[in-house]
Amino acid sequence: MRRDCLKYALENKQIWGIWGGKDEGELRRALSVNQEGKEARRQRFPNCPYCAARPDKLQVVVAESPEGGRWTTMKLVQCSACEFTWRSRTSANAVAAYHAARAERIAKKKVKREKIKAKKVKKI
Ligand SMILES: [Zn+2]
Repeated sequence: MRRDCLKYALENKQIWGIWGGKDEGELRRALSVNQEGKEARRQRFPNCPYCAARPDKLQVVVAESPEGGRWTTMKLVQCSACEFTWRSRTSANAVAAYHAARAERIAKKKVKREKIKAKKVKKI
């Protein structure tokens, strides 16, 4: 029930009031939208709105759209910790941005490590 309520709010961008036990701020954060309901592009990523798992537990999954029509696929966000899944373009964008930023961080660290390794080799 709480799950369905939260899912409904997220999928219909209900950012006012309390839905599924989540307040407006939590709903907006999960959807990555500002107070006007517009997509917020900032380096703050959503946690799972249902179980509060960190964004690395969230993933974007592409599913067939049940309505068919012009768009045959849709983007869903799924939490691997609690299986909570919701359909939101803005949430999916934020989760994709999180994973891109994370991959970049990991790549930078790897370069740094290799530079240190190269220095050590030179000394010998
Ligand atoms: Zn979750």
